[in-house]
Amino acid sequence: MNAESTLFCNVNILDGTGAQPYRGDVLVRGNRIDRIARAGQTCIAHDLATNVVDGGGHRTLMPGLCDAHTHITWNNGTNLHATTALPIEEHLLLTIDNARTYLDCGYTMCVGAASAKERLDVVIRDSINSGRIPGPRLLASGMEIATTGADVNPSLTADGVEEIRKTVRSVCKLGVDTVKLSMSGEQITGAALNHETFFTDAEVAVAVEEASRRGARVCAHARNQHSIKLCVKHGVNIIYHASFVDEEALDMLEAAKDRVFVAPGLAWLIMTCYHASDWGITPEAAEQMGYVDELENAIESMKKMHQRGIRVLPGGDYGFAWTPHGTYAKDLEYFVDLLGFTPMETILSATKLGGEIMGDPEHLGQLREGYFADLLLVDGDPLRDITILQDRDNLLAIMKDGAFHKAPPSAEARIQRLPRFDHLRVVAA
Ligand SMILES: [Zn+2]
Repeated sequence: MNAESTLFCNVNILDGTGAQPYRGDVLVRGNRIDRIARAGQTCIAHDLATNVVDGGGHRTLMPGLCDAHTHITWNNGTNLHATTALPIEEHLLLTIDNARTYLDCGYTMCVGAASAKERLDVVIRDSINSGRIPGPRLLASGMEIATTGADVNPSLTADGVEEIRKTVRSVCKLGVDTVKLSMSGEQITGAALNHETFFTDAEVAVAVEEASRRGARVCAHARNQHSIKLCVKHGVNIIYHASFVDEEALDMLEAAKDRVFVAPGLAWLIMTCYHASDWGITPEAAEQMGYVDELENAIESMKKMHQRGIRVLPGGDYGFAWTPHGTYAKDLEYFVDLLGFTPMETILSATKLGGEIMGDPEHLGQLREGYFADLLLVDGDPLRDITILQDRDNLLAIMKDGAFHKAPPSAEARIQRLPRFDHLRVVAA
């Protein structure tokens, strides 16, 4: 259904500004939110819109969600290095599926955090943007860049200032939005560990210098305090994991909080610790590898960052066998249950801060007049129960750029197939 203009009436508006939800109407024209009317003050005439969607007074209309750590090319496998061996044809098809899955789950913004093959993210981003395939707004990444002996994921290897410069240039030439550096280790590798740091000051500095020159941003796998400090010092503004911090790292992050984003990737830690036995990683094995220790540290670190006003965003490293695609909204539950965020703070991290990390806070991440119409109509109130966002059936409508990816059921469909949508009526579909 192509929505030239859509009126969502009688909805609870959770606008992503931090304001409490309020009842009202929202008019979408083209790809923008045109007007918002608060119930009791004004209303919007129904004949202004080609489509009218009635929220029945209890459905929530909110901005689409952001996943800050996306691997759209990961294949739900157990071994990332096997992912690189996938033939490109099959790999492209599964990446197209993953792109659609993000949108099916209400994610309209994704920050690419390394691609398993050099051009896959870029091709998928361009295909989404041209309308050829459904998917979120995507910041495309290239393959991760690692130094010798320190590849955590499928990576390009480069050492020293000139090799890093050349590699960043070759990645940027592909048209990426983000360049990923593999700056610290990962316990599961058994070789490159989380407390080890694999980049020098000069190597980080040159990566940022070259990426900036080409309009790309740098993100990093940085689990320990040394790698975090390298990030802040040299302008790597998207920091993944950041599990281990000391006071100095916290002070540096706080001083840079207007430019730095942190995404801990909690799902990876939690699922590896407690839910990966089917793939040979028992809780005992995970503890021995150091993941329980890391998870405990990550939780404490994120609480401290949150207290200091450092921007912490959901995005859980989805796409492994035990963190499969489609389970993205589990991260929101972790923010509430483990990090002590209120449901409102969690929603803001996934919406308003999403607009900020996407680099377009004036148009993305909030439900405000003039913003892009990336909207979710939710059956219920996520502020009362954040877990309702995990069930796709609760997303009654998903709109991106003013067009329905998932249209609310038509009146006919309501009678024939979807009796649960009693109060949702489409006047003209
Ligand atoms: Zn990752």
